[in-house]
Amino acid sequence: MMQTQEARRREIAAGLERVHARIEQACRDAGRDPAEVTLVVITKFFPPEDVLALHELGVRDVGENKDQEAGPKIAAVREHLRAIGATDLRLHFVGQLQSNKAAHVAAYADVVQSVDRRKLVTALDRGAETHGRELDVLLQVSLDGQTGRGGAHPDEVAELAAQVADTPRLHLRGVMAVAPLDADPDESFARLHDLASDLRAEHPEATWVSAGMSGDLEAAIRHGATHLRVGTAILGSRPSLL
Ligand SMILES: *Cc1c(COP(=O)(O)O)cnc(C)c1O
Repeated sequence: MMQTQEARRREIAAGLERVHARIEQACRDAGRDPAEVTLVVITKFFPPEDVLALHELGVRDVGENKDQEAGPKIAAVREHLRAIGATDLRLHFVGQLQSNKAAHVAAYADVVQSVDRRKLVTALDRGAETHGRELDVLLQVSLDGQTGRGGAHPDEVAELAAQVADTPRLHLRGVMAVAPLDADPDESFARLHDLASDLRAEHPEATWVSAGMSGDLEAAIRHGATHLRVGTAILGSRPSLL
C-alpha cells in the first residue's frame, strides 16, 4: 500500500535523527566539532517529494549520481522551493560522469565531487561557461589505484589539481573517495587523509574531504572527513532496478 506523505516524512525525520546522533557520537569520540562535518544526503532513486521533505527538515546539501535522474529531479525540487522563496539547496553530483554529460551537469550542480580526469575538467569548465555558472570541484581518488569504477589514481591527483586550479570557473575544494569494498575503511580513510594533506600543502583552499557513507561514516570522521555522503541510513534501501 502507498505510504502517506506524512508517514514518509516521519520516517525520513527518524532516519536523519539517527544519523545526526551517530555523527555527534563519532565526533565526540574523535574529539571533533560536529559543526566541521557537513552531511550530504544522497537522494538517488528517491522522488522529489523526499528531497523536499529533507529540505523542510533542515537539510541543505543533497547528492545525486546520475545526470539522467538528477537533472529533472532537481529542476522539480527547485521549482517547488522557489514557490516558497527558498533558494538554499546545494546539489552535489557524486557519480561517474561521462564528459559528454558534463555540460548538462554544469547547468544545475553546485558541487561536482567526482572529477577524476583531465577531459572532464575541460568539459565541466566549458559547460559552466555556457550556463554562466561556477562550480565547486572535488577530485575523486581511487584509494586502491583501481580506476575502473571511477576515481583518479593517487599519483594523478597533483596534476589534476593544478589543472582545476588553472580553470577559472571551477573551484578546487578538496578530495572525495569511496572506501574500496574489501578494504579496512580506517586504512582507506587514513590514506585519503594523507592525500588531502599533500593537496592542501599546494592548494590551501582545498580543505574538503568527502568520505564516509551509511556503513562507514564513523571511520571517515575519525580520519578527518568534512563531508559525509549518506543515503540508505536516512532514506532506507533503494528500490532494486527491475
Ligand atoms: C549511493 C552513494 C552514496 C550513499 O551510499 P549509502 O550506502 O546509501 O549511504 C555515497 N557516495 C556515492 C558516490 C554514492 O553513489
